[in-house]
Amino acid sequence: MLTNTNIPLKSKERRFYMRGINEYGETTVQCRICGKWTPMTGTKLCDRCWELETRIERDPELARKILEQVDKRKGGTHGT
Ligand SMILES: [Zn+2]
Repeated sequence: MLTNTNIPLKSKERRFYMRGINEYGETTVQCRICGKWTPMTGTKLCDRCWELETRIERDPELARKILEQVDKRKGGTHGT
């Protein structure tokens, strides 16, 4: 069982997610990439990470180029 509780959640969400169950009564796990609680217990990926990972896996070289472009645009910092 994961115990990371440092993820910012609205108090209403926290009430549900702290039990590993969301407001729809689904069992939730923490996304293995971003730590967000997700009902996807099989992949352990939230929707965003699953979508990104799936697309990146299809063409990692392209993803790398895109990331380089994004980094350049941001001037190599995290920016705002
Ligand atoms: Zn995620």
